[in-house]
This record gives sequence, C-alpha cells and structure tokens, in this order.
Amino acid sequence: MNIVFLGLPGTGKGTQAEELAGEMGIPHIATGDIFRQAISQGSELGKKAKQYLDSGELVPDEVTCGMVKERLMQEDAASGFILDGFPRTFPQAEALDQIMDELDKELEKIIFFSAPEQVLVKRLAGRRVCSECGATYHIEHNPPSQEGICDKCGGKLIQREDDQEETVIHRLKVNRDKTQQLVDYYRKQGKLTTVEADRSLEEVKKQLKEAVGSP
Ligand code: AMP
Repeated sequence: MNIVFLGLPGTGKGTQAEELAGEMGIPHIATGDIFRQAISQGSELGKKAKQYLDSGELVPDEVTCGMVKERLMQEDAASGFILDGFPRTFPQAEALDQIMDELDKELEKIIFFSAPEQVLVKRLAGRRVCSECGATYHIEHNPPSQEGICDKCGGKLIQREDDQEETVIHRLKVNRDKTQQLVDYYRKQGKLTTVEADRSLEEVKKQLKEAVGSP
C-alpha cells in the first residue's frame, strides 16, 4: 500500500510510521531522516540541505523532489511505502503525482495527523532521538527505560538542534499554511483520513490501523 503521512512537526507521525511500516513490511521513507543522514555523512545532498535544517526552513523543492523520486524507485518501495514529511508544499504534491504516474503507481491513503499547536510545541521540546539509530522518544510520553539511553541500540539520546523552542515555533509557522493547503488538496480527492494525534500512542495507533484497514 502506498501511504502518505501528513501533519505538522511533532504530531507523532514519524513514531507511528516507523512502527506501522515495520508491521506492514514496507519502508518508512522520512525526508527529514534522509537529510539528517546525508548531513552526518557530509554528502553533496547534505551540504545542500544543512543550512535549511539548521534554521528550520524548507529545503528547496528541486532538491527534495529529486531525492524522493530516487528513493521511491528503489526496489524495496515496489510493494508499498509510508512517506513521512513529504509532500510539504503544493508543488511537492504535484511532483509526487507526476512521480507516481511515471512509476505507474497510485497514492492510496493520505493520513492527516491533527493536533493543536500548543501541544506540538510541548511535544517537540520533550523529544529526544537516538544519535545512533534515530529512534524517537519523549521524556514524558514515551521515555526510554534508562534515561538518556536508547532501548533499541544503547546509543546516546540527544535533542535535535531544530527542536529548541524558538526553532520549533518557526517550523510550525513555516509549515502551517502549506500543510492546510495539502489537506484541502487530498480531501477533494477523497483520499484523506484524519487521525486525532493529540491522544496516547496506543489510541493513535488504533485510529491509524482502522484508517489503513490493517489488523
Ligand atoms: P522533519 O524531520 O520532518 O521535521 O524535517 C526536518 C527538516 O528537514 C525540516 O525542517 C526541513 O528543513 C527538512 N525537510 C524535511 N522534509 C522536507 C520536505 N518535504 N521539503 C523541504 N524540506 C524538508
């Protein structure tokens, strides 16, 4: 199944995408993760993206769309994928339609993670990620069993630079109108399902499974 997760930063879509993709046996493709990995490897893509990630701005569409197309052409995405963090702009949504046409695929489900913004600021400020494997935690809602240490790989948990409160507020501002535009676009196509993301991890997971029809 070809699925897109839409939503502002901090709605928990990355955590849910990781788990659901694992259960469905399809890749979780998160554009933010691809950029962070490229930056840590010092690749050409990383050099192009770094200044935007540091400031919470969007990486230009021409860089992002080409990268997504390449990723979706890889073999592991042939039987489906969860795209997380893309599209984020209307031109990206149009580019994705074109990529899907070219690959003879269709987007089947668009899941919109909805939550009030004041909740998102709190969530992002409390988020910690593993510096080794990228697993995500929250100091209150989803803490690791041992403080500061990743349950999955034992790596050190850190706060992302762009999860500092000031950058978080800026990121929400950058993404707000664009996300709404995408919600309207996919709603008109009858593909959109809204998930109330301001709930516990388990409750959100339940809504999500209903939305994708997974047992
Ligand atoms: P995320 O991990 O999804 O919060 O993304 C972190 C950062 O990566 C964003 O603040 C942007 O700088 C960049 N980014 C991720 N996805 C996109 C996208 N679809 N378009 C442009 N920039 C993106």
